[in-house]
Amino acid sequence: MIRKVAVFGATGSIGTSALDVIARHPDRLRASVLAAGSNVPALVALCVTHRPDHAVIADAALLDALASALRDAGLDSTPHAGMPALDALARDAEACDTVVAAIVGAAGLDSTLAALRAGKRVLLANKESLVLAGALMMQAARDAGATIVPIDSEHNAIHQCLPADGDCSGVARIILTASGGPFRGRSRASLAEVTPAQAVAHPKWSMGPKISVDSATLMNKGLELIEAHHLFAMPVERLDVLVHPQSLVHSFVEFIDGSTLAQLGLPDMRTALAVGLGYPDRIASGVSGLDLLQHGRLDFEAPDLDAFPCLALARGALAAGGTAPALLNAANEVAVSAFLQGHLRFLAIPTLVEHVLDTLPAADAASLAVLRDADARARSVATQAIETGAVH
Ligand code: NAD
Ligand code: MG
Repeated sequence: MIRKVAVFGATGSIGTSALDVIARHPDRLRASVLAAGSNVPALVALCVTHRPDHAVIADAALLDALASALRDAGLDSTPHAGMPALDALARDAEACDTVVAAIVGAAGLDSTLAALRAGKRVLLANKESLVLAGALMMQAARDAGATIVPIDSEHNAIHQCLPADGDCSGVARIILTASGGPFRGRSRASLAEVTPAQAVAHPKWSMGPKISVDSATLMNKGLELIEAHHLFAMPVERLDVLVHPQSLVHSFVEFIDGSTLAQLGLPDMRTALAVGLGYPDRIASGVSGLDLLQHGRLDFEAPDLDAFPCLALARGALAAGGTAPALLNAANEVAVSAFLQGHLRFLAIPTLVEHVLDTLPAADAASLAVLRDADARARSVATQAIETGAVH
């Protein structure tokens, strides 16, 4: 049977990579729903190529613009607008059986949760939703019998290294690799004047602007620690990070017998997406195998927590538990957005996150409402700190 795949965040870096893999397998995969944030022309261009049944624009004000652009292009994809439409399509059994969750930020939570509650196969790239509400999402997946295939390259690597039955009792430690980002090796003082353009110029991966800044601050690895904690039920003290500048080893799993397994491959997200799209079969991704003779060497070093304090902040939030990871994530989203707009210095990103964590005490994360409230409060405290110049 041909899998019907909904791609949420279709116009982004992960979304376009997913569509590239889907188009290679017309015999087993079809893009049945394409969704984007606000770029109607980019969404319609994808619809011309992939002919989905449904096209969704998250900005509710753009329904007419989407409908007329689809008509002008001679397409019969049904137009939808607004986040509730996205959630409804995520649930709809006719519309899709697989959802690629590739919206950036906490904005991806509702549609991902809707897909999990409907028992879908979810290819999870949207790490912020797990950081915000990981325990609830994993519980929803268990309750509904949903399958989560992690798409973040590290977690996809770990998923490939773990036993297929999900039994982690033989696992001693999980070691996430990190490229170190564009500023690896630089001192804290030397980062005072770095610009958004420098921060998004990642040496190994081509990604959207938000995750590129997160890679430059190492917050990305911090979010990934929290992500790994939820996906693999691993306590924080058994999660480690190793900087690996070549970005060829995507992570390690150490077992209690002294064995360490790793997954290697070129830094191209189509490999992880093919693992998810074909799961449990292996399918071609368009990525070639590794020529290790050409690469020559694999280096490893410890992360520099002085230059990149975000990693320690995230580890602290995970250890604190409750709403702390939700506060961290929301503060970071506000900080990164302000940095990209030129309103905040690079070194103020961790300062702002710390300010929010110090201002708002973490509470028990009893429900989704509590987590959403923590997210909203953190955004408000962070925005106010920027506007008043308390953090700059
Ligand atoms: P991107 O900025 O390239 O794309 C984001 C997509 O989300 C776009 O299609 C955009 O239209 C959509 N979007 C943005 N805001 C939205 C909203 N409010 N409602 C609905 N849609 C919205 O980002 P990306 O690099 O593709 O990353 C997507 C997610 O995948 C992030 O959570 C990121 O951390 C994760 N991820 C990305 C990579 C990568 O290589 N790019 C690797 C691992 C994980
Ligand atoms: Mg990653």
